[in-house]
Amino acid sequence: MREEKNNQRPILPLDTSTRDVNPTAPPVHVNSTSNVHRGTHLKQRLRDSTKLIAPLIVVYVLISCLQQHYTRFRFDLPVHRPTGICKQEQPLRPSTNVAGKITHALKSDDFAARAAEALGGAVRVSTEVFDGWGLVGSDPRWGNFSLFHTYLEATFPRTHASLSLTKVNTYGLLYEWKGSDDTLAPLLLMAHQDVVPVDPAAYSLWKEPPYSGKLVDGYIWGRGSVDFKSGLIGILLAVETLLEEGWTPKRTIILSFGFDEETSGVQVKAL
Ligand SMILES: [Zn+2]
Repeated sequence: MREEKNNQRPILPLDTSTRDVNPTAPPVHVNSTSNVHRGTHLKQRLRDSTKLIAPLIVVYVLISCLQQHYTRFRFDLPVHRPTGICKQEQPLRPSTNVAGKITHALKSDDFAARAAEALGGAVRVSTEVFDGWGLVGSDPRWGNFSLFHTYLEATFPRTHASLSLTKVNTYGLLYEWKGSDDTLAPLLLMAHQDVVPVDPAAYSLWKEPPYSGKLVDGYIWGRGSVDFKSGLIGILLAVETLLEEGWTPKRTIILSFGFDEETSGVQVKAL
C-alpha cells in the first residue's frame, strides 16, 4: 500500500492550465511547505500573465489610436480638399437684343409647330443600332445614318450652308461655327443620333407607333423623341434660328453628334 501511495502521480496545486502558461514549469508537490510554494507559484503566474497581457494592452491602445485617427481623418477629408480647382463661373447674359427677339419667337405657336415637326421628322428616320453590328465600312446596316443626314440637311439648310461640317468615321457629325474671337475657348454642344432598338414583340404596347413621330396632346411620340433626338434637333434648331436672325458668335461653337452611343461608343472616339 505504501509503495502504491508513493507511486501515485504528484498532486498539482492548480489545474493543468498552469502548464499552459509555462509548460516548462516543474510540477509542485503538496507537502508541508506547500503554502510557501503556492505563494511563489502565484507570483510566477502573475509575472507570466503580465508578460502576456501587457503586449495585448499595448496592441489594443495602438489599434484604438489608429482607428480614431482614421475615423477623424475620414470625416475631416472634405475639409482638407483643395478648393478652387473647378471654379463655378458666373452665368453669361446675352449682350445683344437678338436674344430678346428669339425669346419672343420661341413662345409662338408657329415656332412650337416647327419644332414639333422637326423632331417628329427626325424620329421617323429610324437610327436604331444593335450591339452585334460590325464596324462602319464592313457592316451595311449603318447606312440608315445617311438617310438621317439627308433629313438634317433638308431641315436645317442655313446651318449646313454656314457651318463647316466634318464627318468623322463616315457618320459622326462635327460642325464648327467659327467665332469672331479666337482667344475665347469654344463652346461644345453634344448629342447622339442613334436610338435604342424597339423590340418588335413590344410594338403593340406602344400607344403610338414607335417611329410615328406623331404629335399627340403636346407630346412627340416615338423612339428618340427623348433620348436623344430631342437634344440634337433642339441644338440644330437653335443654330438655325440664330442664323435666320443674322446672329454670329463671338466664341466658336462646336456641335458633336455621335452615332453609336447606345452600343459600344467606340466608333466615334475621334469625336
Ligand atoms: Zn442616350
